[in-house]
Amino acid sequence: MTDIFTPEQRHVVMSHIRSKDTRPEMLVRRFLHRHGVRYSLHVKHLPGHPDIVLRKYHTIILVNGCFWHGHGFNSNQQPLQHENSLCSIFRLPHSNIDFWKKKIERNICRDEKQHKELTEMGWNVITIWECQLRPSERENTLFGLLRTLNLILMKNMGVHLTYNTDEEDIAMPQAAESDSAIESN
Ligand SMILES: [Zn+2]
Repeated sequence: MTDIFTPEQRHVVMSHIRSKDTRPEMLVRRFLHRHGVRYSLHVKHLPGHPDIVLRKYHTIILVNGCFWHGHGFNSNQQPLQHENSLCSIFRLPHSNIDFWKKKIERNICRDEKQHKELTEMGWNVITIWECQLRPSERENTLFGLLRTLNLILMKNMGVHLTYNTDEEDIAMPQAAESDSAIESN
């Protein structure tokens, strides 16, 4: 099999190795499991074979490596124009810049297409970035994820979290006093 990479490119690939069970993804999976959230893995019949699928929550979690997925860029801006994005991990390699730009821009477009398709199918899509799982950020990110999932679950179950008196007035038969109270206002 021909090696499609130059030695330099190979070096970058090896330093940003991507696999199905990457460490950031395992961190998220272990956390979810510990908190009783059950998921399916690498679901084949969904666009992009998403990593973590939470059927009960109608939610898909994508755990993205900052380099391969071009954290901080999208296809609408001039993508990858700057060497550094706001992300603390993303850096374009110093050599073969055009090669890497094209490669990562393709990934960004593919990610956006996948995100759109999943959303159109009715899934909530949550993206977690590798840099959000650094030790200093990890706890915030994971507990934030858990809060979001709980909100999604309550929303799906039709639980209203805000107490909206106007809505209650509409839903409840109006008592004579409240009618006159409204008229006098
Ligand atoms: Zn990042």
